[in-house]
Amino acid sequence: MENSNINSFFNIDKPLLEKDALILEKCRKRFSEIDDITEYCQLKVLSAFIKNGVSEAAMAGSTGYGYDDRGREILERVMAQAMGAEDALMRHNFVSGTHTLTVALFGILRPGDKILSLTGRPYDTIIGVFGIDGKSDGSLADFGVEYRQAELLPDGTPDIARIKEMLKADKYKMAYIQRSRGYSTRPSLTVDDIEKLCRAVREVSPDSIIMVDNCYGEFTEKKEPCEVGADIVAGSLIKNPGGGIAPTGGYIAGRHDLVEKCAARLTCPGVGREVGATLGHSRELYMGLFAAPHVVGEAMKTAVYAAALFENLGFEVSPKSDEKRGDIIQCVTLGTKEGLVAFCQGMQSGAPVDSFVVPEPWDMPGYDDPVIMAAGAFTLGASIELSADGPLREPFAAWMQGGLNFHSARAGVLLAAQKMLEKGEILL
Ligand SMILES: *Cc1c(COP(=O)(O)O)cnc(C)c1O
Repeated sequence: MENSNINSFFNIDKPLLEKDALILEKCRKRFSEIDDITEYCQLKVLSAFIKNGVSEAAMAGSTGYGYDDRGREILERVMAQAMGAEDALMRHNFVSGTHTLTVALFGILRPGDKILSLTGRPYDTIIGVFGIDGKSDGSLADFGVEYRQAELLPDGTPDIARIKEMLKADKYKMAYIQRSRGYSTRPSLTVDDIEKLCRAVREVSPDSIIMVDNCYGEFTEKKEPCEVGADIVAGSLIKNPGGGIAPTGGYIAGRHDLVEKCAARLTCPGVGREVGATLGHSRELYMGLFAAPHVVGEAMKTAVYAAALFENLGFEVSPKSDEKRGDIIQCVTLGTKEGLVAFCQGMQSGAPVDSFVVPEPWDMPGYDDPVIMAAGAFTLGASIELSADGPLREPFAAWMQGGLNFHSARAGVLLAAQKMLEKGEILL
C-alpha cells in the first residue's frame, strides 16, 4: 500500500504513508467529479480561444498609450466568453483583487446610491473600500454611497427572507454577493446558491445591479455567476483565472454597459478601455487563462485530499472531503498553536520556492493576533499556488488553498502532517 514515489524523495513515516494510500483511494470518486468539471471548463476556454481567433500576433505587447492593441481586445473577448458574460476587462494594470473590485464598485455606483451585501460582512480588504469601519480615506462612504448588509443565518448561509425584506423596504442600486468564504468559517456559495440569490433580488428589486466578488470561485464549477443572473463579476489573476502563470492583474466581466463604466474608472472617463499598454504581459495572461481550468482542478483535488487526510487524522475540516465546493479554500482546524505552526512549517518545507525558509508567526498590520503563513510561490502572494495561513488564536485553524499540480501539492500536505507528527501534534 505504501507509496514508493513519495518515499523516493521525502521521509514520511510509514503509518502516515499508509493513511495516504487509503485517502487516495477514498478520494477517487470526488477526483473523477472534479475531472469532469475541469474538462468542461477547459473545453469552454479552448472554444473561446478558437471562436475569437487567438493568434500568435495577439501575444505581442503594446507600449505607450496602448491604442489599437488587438491582442488586448481579443483577450478580453475570450475572458468574457469564459465567464459566460457579454463583455470583460482583463488587464495586468489591476494591482490586486481588491483593486479590481474597487474599480468595479466606483465605476458603477454614484453618490446617493445604496449597496446591500447579501452575504454579511465582506472580505477583510473590502471593508475599507466600502468604508464600513469609517476609517479609510476615499472610501465609497466618503463619496456618499451607503453600505448595508444582510447578516448571514447562524449556519452561515444567506438569509433570503431578510434580504427580500430589506430590498422591499429601500431602494438599492446594487446587491453584492461574495462567492468565496474567504477567511471566514461560513460555507462558500455554489453557483446554485448564487442563482437563488439572483432570483430573490429580481423578484423584489428587478433594477438592482447584482455584483459578485468571484475571487477563488472561477472554474470550480461548470457555470459562472453571469450565467445564472449576476450582472457583473470581478476577480484576481493571481488566483484561479491566472492559472499560476499571470504575474499580476485582475478582470471584470458582465453586462456591456457596466463593463464600460468600469473601464471609465480604470483609466479615464471618455477614454475607457481604448488605452492601456500590455507591455510584454499578454502572452502570460493568455497562457494563464488557458491553464486555469486545469490548475483549478489540481487545487480542488489538493483541497479534497487535505480534507480527507485531516478528517481521518481526527481534525475538524471545512468543507468536508465529500461536500460540494464553491471555491478552492480548505479550512483545517488544528486545535493548538504548536499544531498550526508545525502545519505551516511542514507545508513550507515542501514548496518549490523558499522551501528552506521556516515560517514564524508575526504581527501583521491590520490583524489582532499574530499570523503564520506558508507560501513558497513563484508569484508573490499567489494563492492559486499551494499556501496556508492562519491567525494564532482559538481554534488554531489553517486556511489553505492552491496547488499548481496535485502531485507536488499532495507532497506539501503530507509534509505538513509529517511535521505535526514529529512535534507530537498527531499521534499515530
Ligand atoms: C482574495 C480576495 C479578495 C481580494 O483580493 P486581493 O488580491 O487579496 O486584494 C477579495 N475577496 C475575496 C473573497 C478574496 O478571496
